[in-house]
Amino acid sequence: MAKAILILTCEHASNRLPAAFKKAVPAEVLKTHRAYDIGAVQVYRKLVKFAKPEFYCEGKFSRLFVDLNRTITNKSAFSEYLRNNENAKAQATAYWNEYRAAIEKFVDSALKPKTRATKSEPTIIHLGIHSFTPVLNGKVRNTDIGILYDPTRPQERAYANVIKAEIKRLYPAMKVRFNYPYKGSSDGLTTTLRKKFGPQYVGIEIEINQKFFL
Ligand SMILES: [Zn+2]
Repeated sequence: MAKAILILTCEHASNRLPAAFKKAVPAEVLKTHRAYDIGAVQVYRKLVKFAKPEFYCEGKFSRLFVDLNRTITNKSAFSEYLRNNENAKAQATAYWNEYRAAIEKFVDSALKPKTRATKSEPTIIHLGIHSFTPVLNGKVRNTDIGILYDPTRPQERAYANVIKAEIKRLYPAMKVRFNYPYKGSSDGLTTTLRKKFGPQYVGIEIEINQKFFL
């Protein structure tokens, strides 16, 4: 059986801003879901301890500085607070590149053919831990956990099913939905890594309702 290599990431872990740009975003906004994924980093850190992934990393700045889960050329990578600040954008881009490069470097080396005599190729299982606001634009989101994956990729579908079954086994009352509240195939870290590494890479995002943390 092919070896599965687990990696865990948490792009929206933090609501901090670099000291130089602290005043760019109002303090009230930094406390909200717009600045970070409330509760996600706590779940992510528990999972790191429990599952002992071979690689893991968390964002250290708010997505209002730069969104690590958007392609850097995507307009929404930068928030309205810093979009027109060239200095902030340059620093944010450097930070974004560093974060993405560390993950890609690990995946690349893990998937490189080893000299040892093994015929089976490893699979990277990447779980990105996120959370979503329970009410958006006045509409209550009636789901507890979303599992995002690309439906055109059979291996991702299989892993998504396993994760859903395990959540339901542990917490039968949980409302679990696939590709909710977002689509797994939208622009993001997993989408980039799929394109770059092909079928040996399995990218799944776990979206947890913030009502559990508020
Ligand atoms: Zn997120």
